[in-house]
Amino acid sequence: LLMAYDPARRLARLQVSLERAVVNARMIYEILDTVPHQRDKPGARELVLQGAQIEFHNVRFGYNENEDILKGVSFIAEGGKTTALVGPSGAGKSTVISLIPRFYDPSQGEILIDGQDIAGITKQSLRNGLAYVSQQPYLFEGSIRDNIRYGRPSATDAEVEDAARLAFAHDFIIAQRQGYDTPVGENGITLSGGQRQRLSIARALVRKAPILLLDEATSALDTESEAAVQKALDYAMDGRTVVVIAHRLSTVVNADKIIVMKDGLVVEEGTHEALAQRSDGLYARLHNLHDKTVQTVEDATFE
Ligand code: ATP
Repeated sequence: LLMAYDPARRLARLQVSLERAVVNARMIYEILDTVPHQRDKPGARELVLQGAQIEFHNVRFGYNENEDILKGVSFIAEGGKTTALVGPSGAGKSTVISLIPRFYDPSQGEILIDGQDIAGITKQSLRNGLAYVSQQPYLFEGSIRDNIRYGRPSATDAEVEDAARLAFAHDFIIAQRQGYDTPVGENGITLSGGQRQRLSIARALVRKAPILLLDEATSALDTESEAAVQKALDYAMDGRTVVVIAHRLSTVVNADKIIVMKDGLVVEEGTHEALAQRSDGLYARLHNLHDKTVQTVEDATFE
């Protein structure tokens, strides 16, 4: 019975049930380092991170055997750089992201991190190197401190607070009567969308992982929150290998590389400048629309 109160175990159990939930939808939670040793290949090795470069090499994948969603995807997300995934809805962007923590494995092709095929890497060591910030941050019942520490159960209070400061969350946290002990989640206080985002970024930062997977929020936040979230994200992205499903035009324009996907394939890749010049390209068509009033990638039509 005592063991039931062990927070690491509780988190591990929560993680397993959440992992099941993921099968139905996009990733709804941030990756943990409490993953039990599950489904590792015999002889699986620990990931050795150097520059944290991610390479997709001819990756095919489908959620069921009859239909390939990714039909041979290849690209490199360079270490320490930001790679933005754009493309019409259903192109496979979320699917690409979900293969990196190995929520699913490719049916063909490889995903390499610093040259190591992740199929032969322990999930725990793989996920230790990753942090994830989703569109809809998941807050469970517990204190703000617990919710940040969920990113790394061994983090000290000081580390939790550092992460919160860097995510521009500290000030709104200490403005609460109970500060870091304030309960959130179902029976806790209600946080604004921007506050939730910043807690989620703090949770990612406390992991100190070199790779950040990011599904940018589409829903508009109020202007003040928007600015705080953007500053927090800029900090989180700096120096990390970032693969982002980009919804904001500024993210796309500032990315080191843009990967344009359509129907499960990479159809174009390059910088914003290079892609915007290919007048017949999908990205250029998107960009022309942007020049007028469009603020998010979704506001543009790809067709
Ligand atoms: P969006 O911008 O709308 O999120 P996307 O480019 O991220 O789109 P994915 O979410 O990767 O695209 O979806 C690609 C295809 O895979 C879609 O046809 C989608 O219906 C399907 N799909 C996504 N997740 C699952 C799942 N868990 N089970 C079955 N099919 C799925």
